[in-house]
Amino acid sequence: MTNVLGTNWSGNHAYLAARVETPATVDEVQDLLRGASAVRALGTRHSFNTIADSADLLISTELLRSDPVLDVEARTVTVGAGIRYGDLARELQASGWALPNLASLPHISVGGAIATGTHGSGNRIPSLAASVAGLELVLASGEVLQLRRGDPDFDGAVVSLGALGIVTRVTLDIEPTFDVEQSVFERIAFSAVTLNFDAITSAAYSVSLFTTWQDPDVLDQVWLKRRGMDAAAPSDLFGATAAPADRHPLPGISAVNCTAQMGVAGAWLDRLPHFRLDFTPSNGEELQSEYLVPRRHAVAALSAVRALADQIAPLLQVCEVRTFAADNLWLSGAYGTDAVGLHFTWFKKQSAVEALLPTLEAALEPFAARPHWGKLFSADPGALERVYPRLPEFRALAARLDPARVFVNEFLERTVLPG
Ligand SMILES: Cc1cc2nc3c(=O)[nH]c(=O)nc-3n(C[C@H](O)[C@H](O)[C@H](O)COP(=O)(O)OP(=O)(O)OC[C@H]3O[C@@H](n4cnc5c(N)ncnc54)[C@H](O)[C@@H]3O)c2cc1C
Repeated sequence: MTNVLGTNWSGNHAYLAARVETPATVDEVQDLLRGASAVRALGTRHSFNTIADSADLLISTELLRSDPVLDVEARTVTVGAGIRYGDLARELQASGWALPNLASLPHISVGGAIATGTHGSGNRIPSLAASVAGLELVLASGEVLQLRRGDPDFDGAVVSLGALGIVTRVTLDIEPTFDVEQSVFERIAFSAVTLNFDAITSAAYSVSLFTTWQDPDVLDQVWLKRRGMDAAAPSDLFGATAAPADRHPLPGISAVNCTAQMGVAGAWLDRLPHFRLDFTPSNGEELQSEYLVPRRHAVAALSAVRALADQIAPLLQVCEVRTFAADNLWLSGAYGTDAVGLHFTWFKKQSAVEALLPTLEAALEPFAARPHWGKLFSADPGALERVYPRLPEFRALAARLDPARVFVNEFLERTVLPG
């Protein structure tokens, strides 16, 4: 599966677009859009489905990386949408500033991450998209639209799935830099997790649970990322014990790719992601799916996944459970509700994974599970409407900003914007 455009990061999709252009300025983006019939933005290619593909033109945002502009009074930074979070983080840190959270990997572009509702972990921390204070996007007409938090269309336009225009600049909330200490605990009983879910997920600023479901009675690891205001690191976490050395979340992989652990303090950018910028994140040979469930259903949804352990485990490298806080962004997994993310890193067996997804989605259906837009899922437009209550308004917004459906690709036809 190769073509001149190459594949996504996972290698499970070869882009079908006829051409890719790499503009460096807003003017160049405008020129490319004039008269175009089918266009999509392409970030760092870390999505696992066909969301970023186009029937004709792909606009790579790689060169849309204008230098970050700090507004210390407003506590914001404005960046070109193609910048990777890891590069932005280094620049912010050098000036004494920070972002509230990062995803598990710093390799992804700001524009691509916010377009799909990418999130990290933390009871009190919302998704990365919720840190967006302003957007500049070029519409299909070539017009440049500026939106700020509070504008009527803003909440529909941040998690955009790339359906509204090419985002050229993004303004993000920032805060003074801070340190984080990361510790990993091993082997926590499933019963301890269900009984103490709130206590475990509030044991640190950011918490992730990992398991392979090989033993449905035990979850393999709990990662605590502690910040100054958190309580001291426990010696025992509801029966789980502190790992004696750095760990990778996936069994059998060296922890050299991972951010430092063992309670050693370091800057936010070197602890909040699980994976280091200069190394391959996760495994590299993998597929991913994730379902965002209202937090009140966390334990029931986790139990529903566990009930499928014998079907899931043979295809699974690791499952990650994370919480994140509610926001108002229409297509966010945490729209209107605190959420828990039930994430699956699969072996690269696409047809077997796709055959299992309807069963998994049926098991999570009672909990109004929302699929992650950048990962594999099988939900159809009707199912998506049931869990994303603002989808009708998003459709109206897309129809108004892109009446000729220039940004509607095969993925959007099949899911969110059927013709
Ligand atoms: C190893 C790995 C770990 C991951 N960890 C996490 C995680 O911790 N949390 C999580 O939530 N997700 C995670 N993801 C998923 C990932 O964050 C999303 O798929 C994200 O969209 C990737 O960003 P990208 O720049 O690669 O976007 P792409 O895959 O290139 O594009 C994604 C979408 O964004 C649109 N887009 C990109 N740039 C723009 C722009 N400038 N304007 C308009 N639209 C744009 C594209 O058209 C497309 O629709 C992970 C993925 C991988 C591979």
